[in-house]
Amino acid sequence: MEIEIRKLDGNEMEFVLSGANPAFANSIRRAALRDVPIMAIDEVEFKVNDSAMYDEIIAHRLAMIPLTTPAKGYQLPSECGCREGRCEKCSVDLELKAEGPGMVYSESLKPSDDEVRPVSGSIPIVKLENGQRLELVAIARLGFGKDHAKWQPGIVAYKYMPVLEFDPKLCNACGDCVKACPKGILEVVEKRVRVKDLTQCTMCKACVESCSSEAVRVSGDPSKFIFRVESTGTLPPDQIILRAIESLREKFEEFPKLVKKL
Ligand SMILES: [Zn+2]
Repeated sequence: MEIEIRKLDGNEMEFVLSGANPAFANSIRRAALRDVPIMAIDEVEFKVNDSAMYDEIIAHRLAMIPLTTPAKGYQLPSECGCREGRCEKCSVDLELKAEGPGMVYSESLKPSDDEVRPVSGSIPIVKLENGQRLELVAIARLGFGKDHAKWQPGIVAYKYMPVLEFDPKLCNACGDCVKACPKGILEVVEKRVRVKDLTQCTMCKACVESCSSEAVRVSGDPSKFIFRVESTGTLPPDQIILRAIESLREKFEEFPKLVKKL
């Protein structure tokens, strides 16, 4: 098995996984979306809410604001000795005090730990009219994407590596497929069709349909996958994948122990 990182830039990553199979690739994707713990607002204590929005709507909006997750340090509420998810080892308070008129943005959330802060300060929460006040304490905790989308660290998707074949006996290098390709990844060089960047192929088969001599074949390689990871900003994208693999490893270590108990 091999991994080739093609892009790692800010919140985005792209890599090619070779020598694997669809079940393995999908287990990485699912673990990344479901089993990587990140911080999100889980409970809100309202002190004043003069806004037009119900407490529940504001609480829901707060929950969907991505927060940065520190590399180490916080415990899952279910594993913390406090048993309530309310101590400094398993929760972070973010205080908000605002008065209208004006829009309240995520930058108004002031965390008790600066390592757990909104990824962006410009996410609108609620609009306050003249004299209206909003005061609350939002409590952030670690959680899993399998329990709620607010704990999903981003988007992880993959596709099979495309395979484009041009039969040299049938292809007359007419260039119809070059014009038909919406991604513009084909070219004719020395009377042969060449693929400029195979990873950009979406397997739409426009090239197959355009070819009057039926010289083109498009398929996917089920042992090679192009992964794309886009983080919400809560964790770097490579960390999402590494922690997903760590969670899989823990499950596989647990499995033989359970089997031995049978
Ligand atoms: Zn605790």
